[in-house]
This record gives sequence, structure tokens and C-alpha cells, in this order.
Amino acid sequence: MGVWNFSAGPAKLPKPVLEQASSEMLDWNSSGISVMEMSHRSAEYEQILQNAISDFKDLLGVPEGYSVLFMQGGATAQNALIPLNILGSRESKKAGYVLTGTWSIKSHKEATKYGDISVVASNQTDIEIDGVRYKPGMWMPEFKDWELNPNSSYVHLCSNETISGLELKELPNMKEFGFADVPMVVDMSSHILSRPVNFDGVGIIYAGAQKNLGPAGVTVLIVRDDLLGFTESNCPSVFNYENVKNANSGFNTPPTYAIYICGLVFQWLRSKGGLLAIHEQNIAKARTLYDLIDKSNGFYKNEVQTKYRSDMNVTFTLPTEELHNLFLKETKANGLLGLKGHKSVGGIRASIYNAMPIDGVKALAEFMDSFLAQYG
Ligand code: PLP
Repeated sequence: MGVWNFSAGPAKLPKPVLEQASSEMLDWNSSGISVMEMSHRSAEYEQILQNAISDFKDLLGVPEGYSVLFMQGGATAQNALIPLNILGSRESKKAGYVLTGTWSIKSHKEATKYGDISVVASNQTDIEIDGVRYKPGMWMPEFKDWELNPNSSYVHLCSNETISGLELKELPNMKEFGFADVPMVVDMSSHILSRPVNFDGVGIIYAGAQKNLGPAGVTVLIVRDDLLGFTESNCPSVFNYENVKNANSGFNTPPTYAIYICGLVFQWLRSKGGLLAIHEQNIAKARTLYDLIDKSNGFYKNEVQTKYRSDMNVTFTLPTEELHNLFLKETKANGLLGLKGHKSVGGIRASIYNAMPIDGVKALAEFMDSFLAQYG
């Protein structure tokens, strides 16, 4: 029986990437050694790194004036490293955080250890929008209601809350909202490279690799160069963005194998037609599941404000705890893995990142249809 892995992360990698990696595992490019054994100062590794960086920049259309950094510590480390590195970029040394779910709340909490941090907007109450009642975490605060100090060093947001499945499809236009001078710092861990990005107003984009980029162990940052050079003196040198940039992501031994796999993922994405093509496919995959949910007469329920439903993490509930447990048991028996919702919220979560083919989504949809027919 084939299996489809819907885990939220570490997540499914593209099959051709795993096949290529396994064929090169013992002998990369006739070098006689594995990438895992290769010096990070060698010309061979240098080539792997440079290709990965240039393919990544190319895919996202990273503009001039931004640097791509590979770091360690996961997206979680960035919760401390962002304020340590860029809070000092403006005299105010203030920053604002938009709270939209578990990950941005964590980012905010950690940042408060390092400076004058405030909440700009939050969705942690229930609310009625256009006659529909939404629970905390299931809706997106309007940009026009942000309470942001225009002298802030940055404003932090998470553009895809992985646990609830709440996705900001486009970054706010900071000029339109009167915050042209405040750079956005965006946690894109769970949807980076799933869609094109407009860099207007972006200061930093960061992402743990283990969903759309590659294996766990590497964190990718895109940093606007004018934000470099303001690091607090007590920031560990290995986490000083300027040091990492100057050392070409090799200030200390980098996670070479993880970076190599990311490079293969970037090549795979390019061969698939880049971000416009994968975005189209991601929309079609998500629509397949949301349409089914919406047509199930309330048997399956997704409670996220419709226009912010995530294309990457589709969350839903079933009418009873028993049905929920049965759903998980039967999906597993049918090779549909990793569907249990995050422990903090329960329910079901189907993570359908770039590497999940439409066939995997169809297999889940067929199962959901027959489960509905039997128990609905
Ligand atoms: N931010 C988001 C949106 C996430 O989904 C996750 C992990 O799932 C994290 C941050 C934490 O990432 P890491 O485990 O790499 O520290």
C-alpha cells in the first residue's frame, strides 16, 4: 500500500528529490564522497551553496539589496535573534507584533525579553464579521486597525499560522496604511515558496526549512541589507546576521547536508515551473478539500474566516470525539498519515505543502467522501 504523508512538519519532501539524494548519497557528482562528509570549505560544497542561494533568489525574485542567510536554531531561535539584531536599527528601539495564533504569540513572548515590544493587533477574542461569529484565532485583524508606532524598528507577523490554518494571502501594503517606514518581519515557515511574494515593505522573511524547503536543521532568512549592523553586543557572534552574511552562511560549520537537500528542492521547484505554477497547483489542492468540507452539510467543519483559509494547512473538525478518533484510525489504516490536529487544538489537519501531489489530496478527498457517506 502506498502512503501519503500529511504531517505538518517535518513534512513530505518531493519524491524526485529523495530519489536524487539517495542516488548521490555515497558518491556526489563523482567526487567519491557523500555531501555529508564534504568539507564546508571545499570548492564542491561552495558550488552546492551558491547554487542553492541563487536558485532560491531566482524562485522568489528576491530584489537587490537583500541577503539570503542559512542559519540554525529553527524559526524559534529567530524569535530572540530578530530583536537582538534589528531592534537597534531605529532610535526608538520599539517593535510591534501582530498576534494571529500560536506561532506569532510565541514570537511576541520571546521578543519581550529583549526590548520595548507591543501588540499591534490581535485575533485572540471572538468576533462577529458580516454576521458570522468567529472563535479566537480563526480570523484576521484588519490592517487599518493596527496600532503601530510609526517609529518602530519593525513590525512582526506570521503569514501562515500552521496550527489553525490561517493564511495571509498577501502582505499588507505598508504605505497605504501609513507605515511606509516600518519594515515587516515575516515568519513564513509554513508557506514560503508556495506562492509569489511582494517584497515592498519587507525587512526580513524567515522560515524553518522543514515544511516547504527541505529537512529540519536549517533556517532560511532573507534580510534587507540596511537592517544589518545594529546587533546588540550581547548577541552570540554566531547569530549576528552581519557575521553570517560576511561569512557567506559559514560563520561556523553550517548544516551542509540540509542545505544540499534544500538546493535539490529549489531545482525541483524550478523544473515544475516556479512559484506561479506551484501556487496554481496549491490553490487547486486546497480547493478540493475546502469544497468537500463546505458541501458536507456541517459534517466536516472548517472555522477559519473564508478568505484567510490556508492553502497549506487545512483544518477541520467532525461532529463527535468518537468520529474524530475513528477518522484518524481509518485514515491511518488506508495509508493517509499525519492527519491529527495539533495537540493544543485537536481536530484534523491536512498539511498539503508543495511536495504533496494532487493525487495525494484526491486520495484524502475520496476517503473523506466515503467516510461522510458512511457516518454522515
Ligand atoms: N513558525 C511557524 C509558522 C511554524 O509552523 C513553526 C513550526 O511548526 C515554527 C515557527 C517553529 O519552527 P522551528 O521548529 O523550526 O523552530
